[in-house]
Amino acid sequence: LPPEYEKAIPVLNKLEQAGFQAYFVGGSVRDILLKQEIHDVDIATSAFPEEVKQLFPRTIDIGIEHGTVLVLVNEEQYEITTFRTESAYQDYRRPDHVEFVRSLEEDLKRRDFTINAFALKEDGQIIDFFDGLSDLKRQILRAVGNPKERFHEDALRMMRGIRFVSQLGFKLEQETAIAIQENHPLLEKISVERINVEFIKMLLGKERSVGIKTFVETQCYIYCPGLREYGEALLRFSDLPNESLKTESQAWTLLIDQLALQENQVRFFLKQWKCSNQMIKEVQLLVFGLNRRKKRLLDAQTLYHLGKEAALKVEELMFYFGEMPQLKKVAQQYDRLPIKSMGELAIDGKMLLTESGKKPGKWISEALQLAEEAVVAAKVVNKSDELFVYLKQNNTF
Ligand code: ATP
Ligand code: MG
Repeated sequence: LPPEYEKAIPVLNKLEQAGFQAYFVGGSVRDILLKQEIHDVDIATSAFPEEVKQLFPRTIDIGIEHGTVLVLVNEEQYEITTFRTESAYQDYRRPDHVEFVRSLEEDLKRRDFTINAFALKEDGQIIDFFDGLSDLKRQILRAVGNPKERFHEDALRMMRGIRFVSQLGFKLEQETAIAIQENHPLLEKISVERINVEFIKMLLGKERSVGIKTFVETQCYIYCPGLREYGEALLRFSDLPNESLKTESQAWTLLIDQLALQENQVRFFLKQWKCSNQMIKEVQLLVFGLNRRKKRLLDAQTLYHLGKEAALKVEELMFYFGEMPQLKKVAQQYDRLPIKSMGELAIDGKMLLTESGKKPGKWISEALQLAEEAVVAAKVVNKSDELFVYLKQNNTF
């Protein structure tokens, strides 16, 4: 067992000593078997939430109506979720009501894919009711139970399947793939926020090319925001070199580039996807930078506007356009800029007022902007007297 799991064994023991069953479950069990890094240690138990809370002094209710209690032990936190079934589905979405049960098998049955439905005991024993181990070995994603029924219960599972194709490089088992194809319109019922999470994980997966192809072949793209008309563009995207994307903002930027969206369409597109304002701002900047960089226009002004981090992210994206990113060179170019922000300018509004004797007005910000541009372009040295001369020559005062 990995150290994160060893450390959590006392938590299982405590539940067991109180007469309950407890297991490690979820994606990290899969990741251990695949010898991949694990993110979170999830525990499933036959104890009901109130019983869990009585056993551990420090807990936080993070989703108690779904049976999940966060338990704090030795500086670590664990999600402990009561065995449950999700019987009362409505609207093809995750149910509001769950039923707590005392049986592990019932709990594992409601999970999406066989490779996500393992339970692990503290002695390393794997509980595998659905032949997940053989699917894992053959690199197959198979829905637990009847795929059509499972996707009707929660249509997001179709997107999860596609993102696992991209993350793990596994293939969809045939019936599972057919069920996704046939039921893709159900995605319309799913909240954009939930689709967004899976979509981004797909774009960042190590087998993005196959992931996007599967996304198009199963037709799931049709019910994702703003993509309906873009099947062919997505297929072209999937033909780009399969090198993994590093960050979410770069993923959106490359996508937007491949869809050939205009810069003024970026905001609307990402709003449809319910991206945060911060993400939208960053992607707008990267799209602007990439468009300039592709036309070899990464001049001082553009670099200054982008900032170092965005400039490097843009440069990294050039890999997908057949150019070796020259990160060192871009970093050097950036570091050589005479100033990095307006704050470093040798003059400010106050100094302008004193120097000119004029009344405050819009002219000040215009003059400062002119000075900023001139300094960035190395037309004028960043010294107050020289800047005053330059601004007078340009009739700002
Ligand atoms: P990741 O490594 O990205 O966290 P994960 O498989 O752990 O992937 P989570 O969203 O953390 O995904 O979910 C944890 C577990 O809960 C899954 O492994 C799966 O067993 C179950 N699960 C999650 N979402 C669903 C769903 N929509 N339907 C059925 N089971 C689900
Ligand atoms: Mg997880």
